[in-house]
Amino acid sequence: MKADRCPSEVNLIAVTKTVGLDAITEAARCGLRLFGESRVQEACSKIEQFKVVLKSEKICGVEWHLIGHLQSNKAKLAVSAFDFIHSVDSIALAEELDRQAFKAGKVQRILVQVKLAEEDSKQGIREKELRTLLERIKSFKNIDVKGLMTIPPYFDNPENSREYFKRLYLLRESLQNTGFLLPELSMGMSHDFEVAIEEGATMVRVGTAIFGERRN
Ligand SMILES: *Cc1c(COP(=O)(O)O)cnc(C)c1O
Repeated sequence: MKADRCPSEVNLIAVTKTVGLDAITEAARCGLRLFGESRVQEACSKIEQFKVVLKSEKICGVEWHLIGHLQSNKAKLAVSAFDFIHSVDSIALAEELDRQAFKAGKVQRILVQVKLAEEDSKQGIREKELRTLLERIKSFKNIDVKGLMTIPPYFDNPENSREYFKRLYLLRESLQNTGFLLPELSMGMSHDFEVAIEEGATMVRVGTAIFGERRN
């Protein structure tokens, strides 16, 4: 295999934003179990409806991942609906998630989203603030940081994403060498997931390559 990775090390997250229930059901029948949505409110009703489908189809083991930006005022809803939150990028948000997870009697699995490019439009915490955030999160008992996530700037040529994926990998290595346990790297989308896998992704977030172009 080109990337010399074991397939079981890489989880495919099927991104279902704007995708209807029928297509999601079909994907679940085909064996997909991890689904990603970017907007909390839109996702919630879909997730509820999908539970009914899963019951009648006798499918279990489905997880929902929040991959889009999260505002603190939606933390409660996010904790109630999502198994995994990929987009934690501030101490304030982490603190609110911890509070809501405590109230819900849950340990919320999260990733910290890192901003590697200096573009204002991209969400994520800057590299130099990451260690402080991770130190703070250690004291939060109801959130469990599993790793890092990034969205590189868009390039037509996926090879241009490689340096960002490499940087996230190396960042994770240096944090792990100083005592943080961060097994997951969420990086790579439809147009660049192959490069991301070569550079160590453990979760790829793929929408259009599975479901086709989105109707917006
Ligand atoms: C929409 C989205 C994806 C999936 O994008 P595709 O190009 O359709 O694969 C992945 N990650 C995030 C954060 C997204 O918002």
